[in-house]
Amino acid sequence: MTIKSINIINGKNKWSNTKKKLVHIVLDLGSYEEKPSNKIDGFYDRLKKYLPSLKSHRCSEGKENGFFYRVKKGTWMGHIIEHIALELQTLAGYNTGWGRTRGVKGKKGVYNIVFNYEDEEKGKLAAKEALNVVNDIINDKDPNIDKIVNKLKSKSLKETIKRILREEIDEARLSDILRVTGNKNDLHNYIEKEISKDFEIDRELPTQLTLKKRYNNRDKIKVYFNWYDTLEHSLKRRIKERTNFKSVSEFSDVLKDAINSILPDELGVTISENGRYAINLTENNLTVVFSINLDNFENKQIDINVITVLPKNQIDKKNIINFFVY
Ligand SMILES: [Zn+2]
Repeated sequence: MTIKSINIINGKNKWSNTKKKLVHIVLDLGSYEEKPSNKIDGFYDRLKKYLPSLKSHRCSEGKENGFFYRVKKGTWMGHIIEHIALELQTLAGYNTGWGRTRGVKGKKGVYNIVFNYEDEEKGKLAAKEALNVVNDIINDKDPNIDKIVNKLKSKSLKETIKRILREEIDEARLSDILRVTGNKNDLHNYIEKEISKDFEIDRELPTQLTLKKRYNNRDKIKVYFNWYDTLEHSLKRRIKERTNFKSVSEFSDVLKDAINSILPDELGVTISENGRYAINLTENNLTVVFSINLDNFENKQIDINVITVLPKNQIDKKNIINFFVY
């Protein structure tokens, strides 16, 4: 098996609408095109032994152990490398977890593999190490996962701080940073700066969305957004304070996906009249309250007024219809 190329994608891409930072590798399976995981003696058991945490990967099965189930049944090495590259990054403390593997058209045994990264260099390293791990497991050798994970851990202060901000601050890590920055006040200033840099509060919220799905398999529908974003009620500040999104654009990407997933199917069904509705973004632990205006629907237009964001699922009022988006 050989990695033909490794590229870094940073921005819009054909693999995902929401993931912008991807490692893209082209992998040639060579003779392993004829050898999926179930054809290699002991592969499944050894993978489970050396990387037990892959248990949490749901894969296409959609439930815990889903990926292991696929390995047991038989899946190709490209797909396995995708999952291992993600898991190695997770173990090193990165917030990743999305990937896809697809055959290259017309080239037998050659695969496009994409998976997300936080640190470019470490993402590329994860790809190479994932291939090493697979080779070791095939050859019944200990891949030494701890050593790889240590290599992948980011040494840069900025990355360390970001990681801490995402997790509970734990004393050991805090003292690591204090050693680098000097004293506690410096650290607080540094974190403040990093947070404000990450959240681009001046970014515009989107004004328009064309739904991916057609209404009655026929008509494209446009959604126009209005935002309750005034000086007294700064929606952007609420997004910043009440959610874990790192930017206005990250929030609007997720909301657009959520709206795409409920509309237009719900029109005329659950959404039959103008009024207030709410979307619970389960994964983000967040509720978005909006009102919908169907008056222009004849012209294939819908107005959505986004009123506010609330942490967690806080809507149980009877006059609001809730959608749950996972
Ligand atoms: Zn998978």
